[in-house]
Order: sequence, then C-alpha cells, then structure tokens
Amino acid sequence: MNYAGSCLCGKVAFEIEGGFESFYLCHCERCRKDTGSAHAANMFSSTATLRWLSGEDLVKTFDFNGTGHVKSFCTVCGSALPNIQKGGMLVVPAGSLDCDAPLPPTAHIFVSHKANWDTGLEKIPAFGELPESTVPRPSRCTKRNQGGSGE
Ligand SMILES: [Zn+2]
Ligand SMILES: [Zn+2]
Repeated sequence: MNYAGSCLCGKVAFEIEGGFESFYLCHCERCRKDTGSAHAANMFSSTATLRWLSGEDLVKTFDFNGTGHVKSFCTVCGSALPNIQKGGMLVVPAGSLDCDAPLPPTAHIFVSHKANWDTGLEKIPAFGELPESTVPRPSRCTKRNQGGSGE
C-alpha cells in the first residue's frame, strides 16, 4: 500500500510504500516535550520505504543527545515528519498522514510517565468543533491593581 503525507505548510510532502507493524502512543517525557502534547502517536515499519516528494531540504532531524530519540520536522512550520532510526526502522507520525491511518493504535506505552492532566480524558466535555461560549474562560494568572490605592 502507498500512503501520502505532508507537513502543515505543505512545503514538505512524502510517500510511504509498504505496511506497518505497530502504532504506539508514547507518553514518555521526551515524546511529551517534542510533541507538546499528552503523547506521541507513531507508526513503525521495518519494511516500508519513505520517499520525499518535495521539500526534503527543509526537513531537519534532531537526535536527542545521541540517544536514538529522533524527531524529524519541517523547518518552516515545525510539523512532525517521518524519520528512519538507526537500524533502519521507519517511524511515521500518524498525524503527518493525509489519509486514514492504516492500522489502529497497538498500545499506550510509558503510561507510568504520563502528564498529571492525562487522565480520564474521555470523561470531559467534547465538542464537534470550537464551542461557542459554553466553556469557562481560563482565570487570569495574575491580578491587576494589586497593591493599588484601594477602591
Ligand atoms: Zn511545513
Ligand atoms: Zn516516548
């Protein structure tokens, strides 16, 4: 099978040919940092091939202190993009695909490292799109006029 993908700004586009063996939602601290979210969502393949269709020169690959925690991203818009790990494993961020993911997530991993707010998320209100005024506005972090002349 072939799967098309691209970054948010559209300058980088790629195509994957082949199948995936696994799809992990990783909640480790590194994945939370590099996605800015609760977890990474990456699909793994030892056999599929990656072909850049455009913008390959805009792709930067960051290897965290040489640990093998690798992230590739578009240097224009910052979107996560596929990378090939040492040993040849292809890693494709599920959100980078322009089509449906070819397999459901295999498992959550590193859940003992998850963020304190990453719990019971299926129980909070859900909206089809941006809600109107039904969601309470965040309270301010700092008060104005504190220590003023009194009112
Ligand atoms: Zn981009
Ligand atoms: Zn991780």
